[in-house]
Amino acid sequence: MKRRLVIVGAGLGGCCLANEMADDWDVTVIELDTVDGALEDRVLDVGRPAVTRPHVGYGLGGTTSFWHNGLIEIDSEIFDRYWPFQKSELIPYYAAAFPKLSGVAFDSVKSASEVLRQKLIENGIPEDLIGNSLFYPRHRFNVWHRFSLRDRVRLVKGEVSDFLMDDSDGVRGVMVRCGCVVQHVEGDTIVLAAGGLGTPALLQRLAQSHPSIALRQVGRYYEDHPTGFVAEVHMDAPIYKLWNFSVSGAKGNLRLPVVIEQDGLQIAFQFRPAAQFGRRGKMDSVLSELRNEPYNLKNYLRLFSHVDDILDILSFRFGLKWPTKRYSLLMVAQQLPDSSLSVEGLSDGRAVSRRWTLPDAYIVSLEMAIRKVIDRLGCAKSAHVFTGWAADLKSSAHHSGTARMHVSAEEGVCNPNAQVYGVNNLFVCDGSLIPASGYANTGLTIAAMALRLAEHLKRCGGCEKNADN
Ligand SMILES: Cc1cc2nc3c(=O)[nH]c(=O)nc-3n(C[C@H](O)[C@H](O)[C@H](O)COP(=O)(O)OP(=O)(O)OC[C@H]3O[C@@H](n4cnc5c(N)ncnc54)[C@H](O)[C@@H]3O)c2cc1C
Repeated sequence: MKRRLVIVGAGLGGCCLANEMADDWDVTVIELDTVDGALEDRVLDVGRPAVTRPHVGYGLGGTTSFWHNGLIEIDSEIFDRYWPFQKSELIPYYAAAFPKLSGVAFDSVKSASEVLRQKLIENGIPEDLIGNSLFYPRHRFNVWHRFSLRDRVRLVKGEVSDFLMDDSDGVRGVMVRCGCVVQHVEGDTIVLAAGGLGTPALLQRLAQSHPSIALRQVGRYYEDHPTGFVAEVHMDAPIYKLWNFSVSGAKGNLRLPVVIEQDGLQIAFQFRPAAQFGRRGKMDSVLSELRNEPYNLKNYLRLFSHVDDILDILSFRFGLKWPTKRYSLLMVAQQLPDSSLSVEGLSDGRAVSRRWTLPDAYIVSLEMAIRKVIDRLGCAKSAHVFTGWAADLKSSAHHSGTARMHVSAEEGVCNPNAQVYGVNNLFVCDGSLIPASGYANTGLTIAAMALRLAEHLKRCGGCEKNADN
């Protein structure tokens, strides 16, 4: 008889895992319905507002219904500093995950990225600043549809609200609520893939009845990437030809950010050609809204006041490079994991609170990084830093760390195999696992971790004694 795997959440991590397991195991995926309203409306920002809306997804595909699909690896230095294993452990899974999320071979993007790196150096960008490549497929992929999971797994619609415990140190199944109906779904192995905000809320529920000391860490070590346009610069080199580099034979574009190290943080900056240039106090973009609501005429009208977005669309969609010497800088900043309890499921079980804060000292570090990048790019005389940049930083919706892997159950929630410490058959497969990500978007890493977990489950059978001390 096939082993029964229950996956909570049909988002990026959950679908990647289901895709790997569906041929060998009996897989059930549980995805919350919209019966209680959209998930985004049930996340209460009690700290700084996310601004990005939606910053969390629900339904089949989870947040991949809204994402931009930018794929990038986490830097090896971040693995050395914060992960329970080295990057070399994840590289084969990065290589396998990449084509699944993009339709493009990893090697072809790697070689294109070397070509782009050389061109940037020839055009005066300091070599030591050039970061890891970020690849955007031309069309974004919703992972549920991409992997044709409808016919390959059993789908249960509803919201997981609690756990069914077994007689030993394991979980027998979960309780799923849909409207007023509650059903029990049982399995041999349970994997939480409810996202960086959903998974901690569920584990906090488990902590009420399970003694594992690791469960006390749930909801701590939260991180996201503050992001926003921070400055405008003038550059003579023809960066407009390179900022959004077409990969030959692949439907997609490559970007290489420049990265500044400041106070132990990695702060990345991307160029974007600027149609408007001047002493603006702030700058934003309507591209996310346009992608997520393509039938809303208002968003097209808003493009007239966001001419830089038009250049972006012309470049990304049609390969038209607008000759210019003016660029805006988009900053994507690392945030150190916050050891206080930042993500908490609220007692009615219907909402999650997220306390996202950017302390003053952190903003000072970012300000120094902005000044440093402008200086290193040699455009200090022409640069204009937006006066409102700090107030306008947004969430990148990379909710991570809230059930992080760690070698110790006293400082993390999961062991290096993504298994919850102290619980024999409970695993995590989403952003909440990631201990730190530097400046990298987390999607490719979530997918790579799902592939790694699939191999582990097949090897160990999905149930292992796993002490919390
Ligand atoms: C606008 C936008 C752009 C983005 N762009 C990028 C990008 O370019 N590159 C990148 O790497 N990342 C990007 N991201 C982030 C990326 O989409 C997420 O990091 C990723 O999808 C998270 O995957 P996950 O598996 O952790 O969670 P999710 O994909 O969010 O999946 C979690 C799923 O669990 C379900 N769930 C939650 N609680 C329960 C429950 N109690 N019961 C049942 N189901 C539940 C949710 O409904 C959801 O479907 C972007 C996000 C947004 C919003």
